[in-house]
Amino acid sequence: MHGLMQDWPLNCHRILDHAATYHGEREVVSRLVEGGIDRTTYRALRERALKVSQRLQGEGIRRGDRVATLAWNTARHLEVWYGILGIGAVCHTVNPRLFAEQLVYIVNHAEDRILFTDISFVPLVEKLKDSMPSLKKVIVLTDAAHLPEAEIELIAYEDWLAEADGDFAWESFDENCAAGMCYTSGTTGVPKGVVYSHRSNVLHALVANQPDMLGLSSRDRVMPVVPMFHANCWSICYGAPMAGAAMVMPGPKMDGASIYELLDSERVTVTAAVPTVWMMLLAYLEETGARLPHLQRVVIGGSACPRAMIETFQREYEVEVIHAWGMTETSPLGTLCTLKPEYAGLTGEERLNIQEKQGHPPFTVEMKIADDMDAPLPWDGKTFGRLKVRGPAVARAYFKGEGGALLDEEGFFDTGDVAHIDRYGYMQITDRSKDVIKSGGEWISSIELENVAVGHPAVAEAAVIGVADEKWGERPLLVVVAKAGAALTKEELLDFMAGKVAKWAVPDDVAFVDEIPHTATGKIQKTALRERFRDRSAANA
Ligand code: ADP
Repeated sequence: MHGLMQDWPLNCHRILDHAATYHGEREVVSRLVEGGIDRTTYRALRERALKVSQRLQGEGIRRGDRVATLAWNTARHLEVWYGILGIGAVCHTVNPRLFAEQLVYIVNHAEDRILFTDISFVPLVEKLKDSMPSLKKVIVLTDAAHLPEAEIELIAYEDWLAEADGDFAWESFDENCAAGMCYTSGTTGVPKGVVYSHRSNVLHALVANQPDMLGLSSRDRVMPVVPMFHANCWSICYGAPMAGAAMVMPGPKMDGASIYELLDSERVTVTAAVPTVWMMLLAYLEETGARLPHLQRVVIGGSACPRAMIETFQREYEVEVIHAWGMTETSPLGTLCTLKPEYAGLTGEERLNIQEKQGHPPFTVEMKIADDMDAPLPWDGKTFGRLKVRGPAVARAYFKGEGGALLDEEGFFDTGDVAHIDRYGYMQITDRSKDVIKSGGEWISSIELENVAVGHPAVAEAAVIGVADEKWGERPLLVVVAKAGAALTKEELLDFMAGKVAKWAVPDDVAFVDEIPHTATGKIQKTALRERFRDRSAANA
């Protein structure tokens, strides 16, 4: 016997219909790439998104065709995003911070037909266009007056859009059709295409909006500092319109002063980004004495959020930190660290102990930890193993079958992370399996050491890599960027760490550097650090 409810496909564009109908006046505010602030509403944005669909269809774009965006977070990018998926085409968000070869590789691999980009990326596209034969058109998200001169043919978005009369309706199609595509940034091998469906995106946004997750509501003003090209924008481009929350789009500027300016002038209540962004904001606040009276929650993920960062936001600025873990392959939200009743009463250090964890999964995400033989490990908050996940918004394969079969016998995806889970289901990442340091018989968590090191007041950023060691196989090397003007010695830092981590985990050596390299998604680029300190490794081996 079947249920007798209506067939209402979970198409992503229905989210924008909902926002335009029931939250039509809610603002979408953008810092324009051309300079200045633009204000629009969900109602107006939907009208323009429909025009994008109409124009794309006129360009011959059909269901399943890939259309790329290489752009900052703005309302124009958002209307293009919805315009693409509203006719069943696939919105492929490309990360402009990738190396040129990777960028060419993924555009060619995805066979993108049209590219929407910002004026800031025109020089890059100009250089690469000839190596991307599938690209027929480059449309620049600006008006004719701001269109830069270039060697390749460029189309001004506003002119292109003006050719549509807007007399158009979205298409309706099977909810399992592809909606979006995002390549993993290739920190671990060649980039691989993750393909989201309409259904997975809608489910993921519904789940992400729950009170124990991002908890968005129509009273919120949300600023995704996390770029739209980073892992599906952490659900926010769907979740905010679904909840009727206003959106504040930071455009090209992510430095501390610019982010602060929007947080303040636009009265942002919730925001989300990787730790490096918040490092810049906190440094700005410290320097200027500025406060954050409107901001209620900050979602921090993409790499481990240092304990000191959680503490500073909460103690100094009364902003609640929600530590989050996820991957491009998990849409991306996998776990969020909000406090269940079991932990809600904790204060001080005990509370931070929990908030440092990556958190618990919502309904639709199942987790397990397993040893190398795939045997399940206990949830005791200390036994660690491979973290695996399963759910309707978790990838089962990569585009074009790259990487082969992804799932284990029970249908779980191996995240490549090493983690433990406690009895209440709070997961904590100890490392990426490739970064864990194997010293003697012990595994040393690079994340734990990094977190302790950045707790020192003179440390701006820290990274830990394994270097070869004759006796132990591998030993941790602590790489540190000291805060401007701070006089910090190796001995002082190692003394500070002793007692805060197991004795054998304290690094033997510290390398002071001016800068730590980051990947295109803002993670510490350990491969580059290992390369840089290869000699040290060789000398010890
Ligand atoms: P890429 O792998 O392409 O850089 P992703 O954003 O998909 O891009 O990276 C996912 C990985 O990032 C996770 O597998 C995990 O190693 C790391 N990660 C994400 N969030 C956290 C977090 N809160 N703490 C520790 N690691 C994290």
